Amino acid sequence: MAQREDYYKVLGVKRAATKDEIRKAYRRLARKYHPDVNPGDKSAEEKFKQLTEAYEVLSDEKKRDVYDKFGSYSDNLRDFSRDQARGGAGPGGGGFDFDWSVFTGGGKPGSGSAEAGSGFKDIFGDIFTGGGRTSGQSRPQPLRGSDIEIPLGLSFEEAINGLTTNINVRRSDPCQNCNGAGEVGTVQVICATCNGNGKVSSGGGFLKFDQPCQECNGTGKRRPPCTICHGKGTVVKYETVKVRIPAGVNTGARVRVSGKGEAGVRGGPPGDLYIVTNVAAHKIFTRKGDNIYCTIPVTLPEAALGAKIEVPTVSGKAQLRIPPGTQSGQMFRLREKGAPSLRGNTRGDQYVEVKITLPKIIDEDTKNLLREFAKRNPENPRVEMGLE
Ligand SMILES: [Zn+2]
Ligand SMILES: [Zn+2]
Repeated sequence: MAQREDYYKVLGVKRAATKDEIRKAYRRLARKYHPDVNPGDKSAEEKFKQLTEAYEVLSDEKKRDVYDKFGSYSDNLRDFSRDQARGGAGPGGGGFDFDWSVFTGGGKPGSGSAEAGSGFKDIFGDIFTGGGRTSGQSRPQPLRGSDIEIPLGLSFEEAINGLTTNINVRRSDPCQNCNGAGEVGTVQVICATCNGNGKVSSGGGFLKFDQPCQECNGTGKRRPPCTICHGKGTVVKYETVKVRIPAGVNTGARVRVSGKGEAGVRGGPPGDLYIVTNVAAHKIFTRKGDNIYCTIPVTLPEAALGAKIEVPTVSGKAQLRIPPGTQSGQMFRLREKGAPSLRGNTRGDQYVEVKITLPKIIDEDTKNLLREFAKRNPENPRVEMGLE
């Protein structure tokens, strides 16, 4: 390990310097050599490391004692002194937990990401953020805007085929006058929310505690509120939004239109618009998933002798061949005549249930034909039920 400079010399203070003198010396020098002030300057960075190392030791009474006694302070000595203090217990817990990467890597002290030893955090907060410490403080963050849901009624066919339509949306946009800040100008006025205190109380009784005021960021002052949006930072807007409803949606589908929800807060992104579909019933078709169902009447001769009949589908008429001896209630499938699937390039099927309907027979000739029919086909369909 390279020979280290004397910590007192590094900070330019006497060996008898008080804690306060050491702190002041460090503050003065750290401000001068900080890597952010000297980007790319290796010697300044090295100097800053030395300063910080010196301060870390000399600002801590116990570490300074060790340093004064041994002329150096290292992890070993640290452990040694601690072991002595504890009467020989092993290393572990407490002690020197300062992270050098804070200064050599990307993290800037006081930016909220640096988690240096707490003593450093305080100092850097003062030096590098102009008083407004951010570490661990709840500074108002940009928030994403809320989503908006709008119901949309669709006919059965529109849901099957999809459609593009315009929808009127009442939503908010960032105020143009104040760029969404809610305040304008450069003059500072007393914050009305916290009466200039910079903090607001929440809770009550024993649980009462202060929080930094969100309106003024804890400063107690703010710029005057924008007169257009009255400090909200957003303005209400009526907008016509073009929406494409994909083919095959069913009731309860949520079609997202990105970025057409409410405006974000403090520069946050807008929410999304969701169109929630409500599909009307159809007088012939019903739907389960991507399959479509309908019932079609057939005559007794068609059912008995077989026939080729026309059936409706959502994409026009189709031919259905029913075989001889078809019973009422029998189901036939028309492949891929159902609704388009939202998940892929396929369609559901259509199921056709046939129902035998009889005409009202009033002429004697037809009645005699049916009597003849019954004589030739004497089977009893109720025999399996034990009935005559
Ligand atoms: Zn305030
Ligand atoms: Zn405004």
